Amino acid sequence: MNNTLDSLLLNGIQLAYLAAASLFIVGLKQLGSPATARRGNVLAAVGMLVAIAATLLDRGIIDYTLIAVGILIGSAVGVVMAQKVEMTAMPQMVGLLNGLGGGASTLVAIAEFWRLTGTGQALPLGSVLTIILSVFIGGITLTGSLVAFAKLQELLSGVPIIFPLQRFVSLGLIGLFLVGSVLLIAEPNDPTIFLVLVAISLILGVLFAIPIGGADMPVAISLLNSFSGLAASAAGFVLFNNMLIISGALVGASGIILTQIMCKAMNRSLPNVLFSAFSKAKEKAAGGAAGAIADKTVHSVDTEEAAMMLGYARSVVIVPGYGMAVAQAQHAVRELADQLERLGVDVKYAIHPVAGRMPGHMNVLLAEANVPYPQLYDMDAINPEFEHTDVALVIGANDVVNPAAAHDTESPIYGMPILEVEKANHTIVIKRGMNKGFAGVENELFYQDKTLMLFGSAKDVVTQLVAGVKEL
Ligand code: NDP
Repeated sequence: MNNTLDSLLLNGIQLAYLAAASLFIVGLKQLGSPATARRGNVLAAVGMLVAIAATLLDRGIIDYTLIAVGILIGSAVGVVMAQKVEMTAMPQMVGLLNGLGGGASTLVAIAEFWRLTGTGQALPLGSVLTIILSVFIGGITLTGSLVAFAKLQELLSGVPIIFPLQRFVSLGLIGLFLVGSVLLIAEPNDPTIFLVLVAISLILGVLFAIPIGGADMPVAISLLNSFSGLAASAAGFVLFNNMLIISGALVGASGIILTQIMCKAMNRSLPNVLFSAFSKAKEKAAGGAAGAIADKTVHSVDTEEAAMMLGYARSVVIVPGYGMAVAQAQHAVRELADQLERLGVDVKYAIHPVAGRMPGHMNVLLAEANVPYPQLYDMDAINPEFEHTDVALVIGANDVVNPAAAHDTESPIYGMPILEVEKANHTIVIKRGMNKGFAGVENELFYQDKTLMLFGSAKDVVTQLVAGVKEL
C-alpha cells in the first residue's frame, strides 16, 4: 500500500514538474513582446510556485523547519530588494542574483560530496563528474558575478583590471583544474583535492570578470546569467532533479541568446568583448578624440528657443538614454510628445538596444508612461530616417549617439552601432553638463555645429519645454 502511495506521489511530482516546465516555456515566449511580457512573468512565477510545492512533497525531505526558515528569510530579502532597487541599478541586481544562483549550485555540489563521502562508500563516477561540473560552473558564476556587481555598483573601478601573464595564469589554473578532476576521479573520496577544485573555480571567476571593462559589463552579466542556468542544470544532475535540469537549461539557453543579441547590437564578437582588454593593454586613456576636441566650444540653447524649434518642426525623433531614466523624466517626455503632436509634429522615439543600464530599459520606462508602442523604433528602423528629420532630441543619452563609435579605432566603443542623430537637420542634447557617459569617453557630437546643448536635469528641462510648447 505504502509503495503504491509512494509511486503515485513520485509520478505526481514529475507531472507537476512537467506542468511547471511548460509554464516556464510559455512564460519565456510571452516575455518576447512588451504587450504580453507581464502575463509571461506571472505564468513563469506560477510555474516556479508549482515546482517548489511539488518539491516540498518529496518524501526525502529531512527538515521542513529549516526550509521554512530559509524561505521566510529569502522571501523577505527578495521583496525588500525588488521594491527598493532603482530601475537603473537593475543590472547589478541581476548580477548579484546570478552570483547567488551559482553559489547555490556550488553549495549543493559541496553538500552532496560530503553526504556521499560520509556514507563511507566510494563515490560513483557519475556523481563525481556531475559534482565537478557543478563546482566548476557554479564557482566561476559566483565570484565572476560578484566582481561584475562590484564594478557596476562602482565598488570596484569599471576600468579593465589586468596584470602581466594574466592569460597564462588563467590557462594554468584551468589546466590545474583538469588535472585535479582526473585525480578526484581516481581518488573520489579525497576532500583535499575536492576543496582545491572549489578554490580554483572561485579564483577563475574573479580572473574571468576583472579584465572586462564597465561598458562591456552588460554582455558579461548576460553571459554569467547563462552560466548560472548551466550551474543549476549541473546541480540538477547531481541531485537527479528533472526540474532543476530543465529550468537551468532554459536559463542557460535564454542567457546565451541574449548575450548574442547584445554582441550583435554592439557589433562585437563575444571573444572580443571578453578578451579585448588584453589586446588593448597599452591602449591610450579612454577617448582618443579627447585631445582633438578639448579646445572646441559647444553651442547652447535655452528652453524657450528649443521649445520653438520643436514646435515648428515637421518631424522630431526623441532619443532617450540613461539620463532620462535617472531623472525619471519619461512622463514629462510623453507629455512633450503629446503637445508636439497637438501642433501636427510627427514624433517618433529611437531606441538603442543598450541605451540605459539594462536590455529593454527604455522600452520599459516609455511603456510605463503609456507611450504608444508603434511610436518606438529600433536602431535599424530609425537610422535611415534621421536625414529626413528636423530635430533629433537627445534626452540623457551619450554613448549611444557618439559618432566616434563609427570611426575612432582607438575608442573603447569603436564598432558599436549608434543612433545617427548627427544626420538630422538639428540635434538638441539635454544633459546636466559635459560629463561623459558610461564608457567614459568624450562625445564629439556635442561640439558639432548642428548640435545645440540644452543644459539641465532631464525632468526639469522637459517640463519647461512642455510649458514652452503649450504657449505656441
Ligand atoms: P550614457 O551612460 O552613455 O550617458 C548618460 C548621460 O546622461 C551622461 O553623460 C549624463 O551626463 C547624462 N545624465 C545623467 N543624469 C542626468 C539627468 N538627471 N538629466 C539629464 N542628463 C543626465 O547613456 P546611454 O544611454 O547613451 O548609453 C548607455 C551606456 O550604458 C552604454 O555605454 C552601454 O553599453 C552601457 N550599459 C548598458 C546596459 C544595457 O543593457 N542597456 C547595461 C549596462 C551598461 P551629465 O552628467 O552631464 O548630465
